[in-house]
Amino acid sequence: MERINVTKSFLPPQEEYQNYLSKIWDTSWLTNNGPLVVELESKISNYLDEKYFAFLGNGTIALQIAIKALDLSGEIITTPFSYCATTTSILWENLKPVFVDINPLDFNINADLIEAAITENTSAILATHVYGNPCEVEKIETIAKKHNLKVIYDAAHAFGVKYKGKSLLSYGDISTCSFHSTKVFHTVEGGSIICHSQELFDKIKLLRSFGHILDDYYLAGINGKNSEFHAAMGLCNLNHLGNIIEGRKAIFRLYDKLLNWDNLYKPTEKDNNLEYNFAYYPVVFDNDKVTKEVILKLNAENIYPRRYFYPSLNKLSYIEDIDECPISESVSTRVLSLPLYPDLDPEIVAKICKIINSTI
Ligand SMILES: *Cc1c(COP(=O)(O)O)cnc(C)c1O
Repeated sequence: MERINVTKSFLPPQEEYQNYLSKIWDTSWLTNNGPLVVELESKISNYLDEKYFAFLGNGTIALQIAIKALDLSGEIITTPFSYCATTTSILWENLKPVFVDINPLDFNINADLIEAAITENTSAILATHVYGNPCEVEKIETIAKKHNLKVIYDAAHAFGVKYKGKSLLSYGDISTCSFHSTKVFHTVEGGSIICHSQELFDKIKLLRSFGHILDDYYLAGINGKNSEFHAAMGLCNLNHLGNIIEGRKAIFRLYDKLLNWDNLYKPTEKDNNLEYNFAYYPVVFDNDKVTKEVILKLNAENIYPRRYFYPSLNKLSYIEDIDECPISESVSTRVLSLPLYPDLDPEIVAKICKIINSTI
């Protein structure tokens, strides 16, 4: 039996990648803001309709550079329901994550609970658009303006999503994205930052290249660059993005149709203001016992869903002050992301649904 994972990385036709490799061999320019990185940045910038787009080594360094670039200090209000990198980036910068619970509809941070968590030490809000579903961006912006806070969105799931006519990556002071192989659009490893001022953009580009330009040393930066080989993969994959999203959508709608929703639910889809990228297919079971039973039964068929996201990040062993987040804690023990990728065999989807329906 073929192993079925939660995702399967897209690979373009090999000749397309080869064409870019020939260009790399022509110049021997492998990294340090080479021509393919510049080309990818310009193409993605156009695609997103955003002027300030920087391609980076990965989505985690993007978060860390975002925190540095905005000079954040003290406490950052964040979501407990995300990948661990959202939290560890805050810890890595020696700041304190303050967790605010999620809303039960789409599992994004509950904007109505943010104000109560603000203290005189709060410098920012770092929220994730979980599964590519938009946070309450207007409410969050209003709160941030009122309390003079910065807003960073971890938009690792949101490439290809449009909300109210513009890319979801346009919101916040900074949005970061991951182009890891498991994401809808990938560059093998990779990440990015979108921001909205030339000054901040210059600082981000400086931070990503050790903080210096030739012999002029301005800031204590880091190595956040990415290579020509990764940019080449991005240039290939960008041309296929529309088909990738369409393919995911077909599988997504098949699950919608075949699952029995009596004892199961999934995050609510936003209204028609949203152009979605079909990044994940999360379902939530009644309790953790049934969730584990489903995992075992699927594993027995060589099918491996993932617990995106478990554990609730406020419960990580290295978090000092526990903020209670009952909804996130509850959802995280009951959620599974089901296999989702364009060439997933519909027969396998039917099999997964049959196993789930007969277990719940
Ligand atoms: C994938 C992911 C990251 C990390 O991105 P990398 O490119 O793997 O470093 C951060 N946050 C979220 C929500 C993610 O899904």
